Amino acid sequence: MTSSNELIASQKMLALLEQANSNVEQILDGFPSVFAIINNKHFVIRANAAFCDLLQLSMDEILHQSFVEMFDSENQNVVEHHLAALNKEDNSDAKEVEFRADITPPHSQNTQQYLWSIAPLQTCSPAEGQLYVLVGKDCSSIYASEAKLSGIFESLPLAILMINTDGYIDEVLSRYSEVLLENNALIGKRLHEAIDLASDKDAEDLAMTFKRMIGCAGKPMSDFAALDPYYLKSFAIKRRNTFDQKWIKASYQAIPSNNAIQKFLVILQDDTNSVKMANERKRIDDLERQSRELYECAVRDPLTGLYTRLYMNDGFNTLLNGYKYGHISAIELIIFDIDNFKKINDTYGHAAGDKAISSVGQVILEHSNAGAVAVRYGGDEFLVMLPEEHGQNKIGYSFADTVRQKVENMGASAPSGTTMQLTLSAGVISCRKDESIEALIERVDTFLYQAKDAGKNTVIAETHSFETK
Ligand code: GH3
Ligand code: MG
Repeated sequence: MTSSNELIASQKMLALLEQANSNVEQILDGFPSVFAIINNKHFVIRANAAFCDLLQLSMDEILHQSFVEMFDSENQNVVEHHLAALNKEDNSDAKEVEFRADITPPHSQNTQQYLWSIAPLQTCSPAEGQLYVLVGKDCSSIYASEAKLSGIFESLPLAILMINTDGYIDEVLSRYSEVLLENNALIGKRLHEAIDLASDKDAEDLAMTFKRMIGCAGKPMSDFAALDPYYLKSFAIKRRNTFDQKWIKASYQAIPSNNAIQKFLVILQDDTNSVKMANERKRIDDLERQSRELYECAVRDPLTGLYTRLYMNDGFNTLLNGYKYGHISAIELIIFDIDNFKKINDTYGHAAGDKAISSVGQVILEHSNAGAVAVRYGGDEFLVMLPEEHGQNKIGYSFADTVRQKVENMGASAPSGTTMQLTLSAGVISCRKDESIEALIERVDTFLYQAKDAGKNTVIAETHSFETK
């Protein structure tokens, strides 16, 4: 090629380049979406006509303005959060970001719903620094139908959030409006800033758990699996502008990309009903236990450990019904009364008298069979209803006499150091079906009187008697 040919060629080339350059503006202005190039300080250095139309401003008013400041404060947080992710050099996934940020023209109230895609510009002159190309698309109609859908989602007691490797909320897939902030206000926040925990302990717990979770960022999935992949715990939440509390159950899962963990999916589930039910169940259990303890206190005589008269009717009726319906073959009723007890009190004092009553009560308890109901009936009087076990016959007499002998031989020690000689007398009867408790006691009492009349330290049963003297 000759030099003149070369010159013509390069002039043609220049003309083409000039044409191309002026065409760029035309092409960009013909581009239906909002288009701009921003520098690393996020100032707009080139924009198209659609951008001017969106903001209802002239090109001069747009150029060299901060892209971030074109948004209201809430959306500024969202834009800054995503631009920061783009600036991060070590994040290989941050080649491009896509996010929703609504924009309101400065002289209008009409908010436009826009989806923004921003990516670093590959060819740039070092003097200008890193440039970014951004494209904004009007997504009002898409968001309108999404809003309908998210209305359904928001009524669900479930929040699904994406957390980035720095621990910030990146994306809100489902927002549980009862406990979480507005959608846009969630982006760029840490989880514990987005939910209002009722107790400091819960807040600490949640922060620790998520610190462990974030610690797995960038690591292989096996690190996460070794952690506690299905962490489930309920946290109490303070609800905004209300006095009642909610509980949420938090769980999380790691999402890998090229076998390295790049994001976390956090699910917050309303657990209020099950926590309330568990609390209610515990409250009922506690009340039942307390009333059992109170009943036990009321039905146990503190001096002897035997049942009180308060329980006597219940205990006796249970046995009598068992007898009536054939579960028990026979029942005997025994009455014991300490002999000359007034004298014990007078000789050794009331405290020694108490000790004597307690010792006799112990002997009665030790010798009663498992089904027996032993009652401290009065001051020094005891009643024992004794069910007979299979194959036994008239065990009341031998039981009463064993007790009598034990008491006679035990010799309770008095506080003065001397030994009190105790004896008791007893009456024994066999219970009849359909006989009232009052009638039974009246009947057994007559045998006790007979034993006292026979000289005390005696057991008299309705069929036979035994005297020690
Ligand atoms: P008897 O051989 O005929 O039974 O004569 P007794 O002296 O034992 O007469 P009784 O059974 O009627 O006496 C019961 C006495 O027990 C009357 C009361 O002062 C005394 N007493 C009742 N309750 C208690 C108690 O809790 N502690 C003490 N130390 N004495 C009691
Ligand atoms: Mg007595």
